[in-house]
Amino acid sequence: MLSEFDLIARYFTRPTRRPDRVALSVGDDCALLNPSPGMQLAISTDMLVEERHFFPDADPFMLGHKCLAVNLSDLAAMGATPLAFTLALSLPDARPEWLEPFSAGMLALADLHACELIGGDTTKGPRNICITVFGEIPPGQALRRDAAQAGDDIWISGTIGEARLALAACRDELKLGADAMTAACERLHAPTPRVALGMALRGIAHAAIDISDGLSGDLGHILERSKAGATLDADALPCGPNLSRQAVELRRRFALAGGDDYELCFTAPPSRRDAVLAAARTASTTVTRVGTIDVAPGLRLVDAQGATLDLQVTSFDHFASP
Ligand code: ADP
Ligand code: MG
Repeated sequence: MLSEFDLIARYFTRPTRRPDRVALSVGDDCALLNPSPGMQLAISTDMLVEERHFFPDADPFMLGHKCLAVNLSDLAAMGATPLAFTLALSLPDARPEWLEPFSAGMLALADLHACELIGGDTTKGPRNICITVFGEIPPGQALRRDAAQAGDDIWISGTIGEARLALAACRDELKLGADAMTAACERLHAPTPRVALGMALRGIAHAAIDISDGLSGDLGHILERSKAGATLDADALPCGPNLSRQAVELRRRFALAGGDDYELCFTAPPSRRDAVLAAARTASTTVTRVGTIDVAPGLRLVDAQGATLDLQVTSFDHFASP
């Protein structure tokens, strides 16, 4: 069996790839970071708990990817550039068969975003993975939830609802063909954080949030913080190819309330539509205009003809009553 320190040395310690930014990495009481002069630090933490966020038999490579992806997604939603992260890990045992692919999945995504693992904590206990990510952003340019303005367009990156579709299929709530199942599960277990898009939207978008708990609830956070309302076209929501084939009621419900998509929902003035599209091209991401920010509070849903829809959608809440 590996000791705590063998485990850290073998799976979570590597030579510093960014000596300009990381002055001291794993191995001391603290890591030391050099943010670029004049930049603000953006910091976020997300925890994944076994049985709550993932199943005990979850593929460890994908799990390693997802733990970091959900954290990078928070940097993306702020428009921040990733710098580094720390990893607090509670594990029932130190099995190389699990640790090897877990660290490989996590560090492959870290390398893709030049985001370095600089420290953490390792303890025995129920499987629990907590990452804190550090990024940087020019002062005043963060895409804050409180910055939406009446008249703004509402945009969504990529496609939404497909992760919820995978969850429904895993729970036997519906049947998917083998190819559709693989594609939907990829969305659920290996989300792509929209880091390049978030950075490209600096100075263009007003407000942004990443869609982790479902569009209606996450957009609701922007509305609450911005003291505004919104009208969403439920039929304009960009669904993935497999969700698009489902019945309209399910399609709308999963797109509006399905979680785990990790796409960005952002607002920008109509005068910046071309700039938004150019930012999306820079980031090799699609973006779709799905609604408008209103003065009147509340979230209104309309169909493609503009008729009001009366859909009851609720987003995920860990402590909501069942
Ligand atoms: P301390 O006693 O100061 O808390 P630890 O013995 O917990 O230090 O950790 C030793 C070093 O290994 C520290 O630099 C810590 O940041 C790092 N570390 C511990 N666990 C991890 C991990 N899972 N991933 C990366 N670094 C880790
Ligand atoms: Mg410690």
